[in-house]
Formats: sequence, C-alpha cells, structure tokens
Amino acid sequence: MLIMAERIATRLYLTEALAAGHSVILGPPAVHRLRDVLRLGPGAAIAAFNPRDGEWLCRIGEMTRGRAALEVVARRRPPEREGNIWLLFAPIRRTRLDWLVEKATELGVSALLPIATARTQVPQTSPARLEAVAIAAAEQCGRLSVPEPRPAAPLAMALAGWPADRQLLVCDESGGGRPITEELTLIEQGAPTALLVGPEGGFTPTELDAFADLPFVSRVGLGPRILRAETAAVAALAVFQAIAGDWREARAR
Ligand code: SAM
Repeated sequence: MLIMAERIATRLYLTEALAAGHSVILGPPAVHRLRDVLRLGPGAAIAAFNPRDGEWLCRIGEMTRGRAALEVVARRRPPEREGNIWLLFAPIRRTRLDWLVEKATELGVSALLPIATARTQVPQTSPARLEAVAIAAAEQCGRLSVPEPRPAAPLAMALAGWPADRQLLVCDESGGGRPITEELTLIEQGAPTALLVGPEGGFTPTELDAFADLPFVSRVGLGPRILRAETAAVAALAVFQAIAGDWREARAR
C-alpha cells in the first residue's frame, strides 16, 4: 500500500529488466527530461515500466549532466494482459499523424502499421518518430506497453501476409459496409482484430473490390459524415474498445 501511496513525479518506459535492487543507468535524453524539464534530483521517486516486468517504484540515485542511476525499489503493478487491436493507417501529414499516434496509444492500440494505398499522398513515415510519440503517450496514460511500430508496407503486401486468425475491419466511407457497431458485436472480446483507415482520397474502387474477396475482411461504416482520416481512426478505436475491447474494465490502482 505504501508503495502505491508514494507520489511519483513521472513514468518512464524502460526496456531494461526491472526488479527490486536493480540499478538502471539512464542516458542523456532521460536525464534531460528528469533534471532539466521536471527539475528532479537524487532521491526523487518516479515509476519505470514495461509490459514484461510491470510498473516499479524507483528512486533517482547519483546524477550528472548526461547520466543518472535509477534504483529500482518495489513493484507497483504486475504485468497485465493487454488488448490485441492493430491500427492500419495510410500515412498523413506529420502533425496530424503525431496526434493520431498519441490518441491511438491512449486508446490501447497494440501495433501501428503504416499502409501505402493507391491514393496515399505522404510516402514516408519515420518508425523512430512513431515510436517516440507512442512512448510519450504510453508514459502519460498509464499503460504498461508501447504499441509496436511496424515498417510501412503496400496494402497488397499487408493483405497477402495477413494472419489467418485476425479479423480486419476496413473503415469505408462509401456506405458499402455495415455499421461498425453491428460488426463489433460479432467479435469475441480479446479476439485478434485490426482496423484499417484509408487516405484523405479514400480507397479506390479496385481496392474496395479486392477486399470483397478476402474472408478476413469486413467493411464497416462510421456514420453518415465523412471524417478526416485521424478522426475516423480514433472514433473507430473508441467504439471498438467500448463494444469488443477493454472499456468494461476499471483502471488498475
Ligand atoms: N475521399 C473520401 C471522400 O471525400 O469522400 C474521404 C476519405 S476520408 C477523409 C479518409 C478515411 O477515413 C476513409 O478512407 C475511411 O477509411 C475513413 N472514413 C472517413 N469517414 C468515414 C465514414 N463515415 N465511415 C467509414 N470510414 C470513414
């Protein structure tokens, strides 16, 4: 109880093993954040987490300008089973993409897959940037994992290598799909699922026809209005979590 009651100044995502008595050495980016941004010094309590070890109370030890020791004290939260929902998206411009990745992380997405469709206008995404935005969002929202950023792939390649057990819901603004709320009631809670959101120009008729031949694809609608791609992604994720995901669960305390 005391461990949980101790006020922590921030949460840090660390891939190093976290266990009582371990010491983790932090490099310049983390030290800059703790020391220069948050004005923390030796003795300050923070939390460190990863999906393998859970979340741990830590204390800042010796600290210099570019290096700090972080002493791992006690576990605050054990590892948790997390959701299994992928988001496939046609890359959009940088500020809107950052927003999308931040919100998708808060909404519990487990993997982020940039997909090049026929009308995708932004050819490049930086996996490192996707990861940095996702880590910051995971630290802020209390989850234990960070969504995995996958390398960008053409739509045809993603569909050709699609895992047999994962249902893909394609967000289709043309009106040709079922309402997403109806489709989601058919999905078992926790079943591997993915959502695909198209580019600003939407999917081409050829792409929409190709989806019809794939047994793992369902086309779904998000209501009568045309949403921007990032709005569609966030709306679809929220509805997914409410109906087939983890919104019936309480927050871990
Ligand atoms: N080119 C389209 C148009 O002007 O009619 C708009 C594409 S929309 C800006 C970008 C993507 O968001 C779409 O490809 C789709 O995946 C998703 N989307 C937007 N509104 C939607 C809706 N009402 N239902 C389902 N998906 C939607």
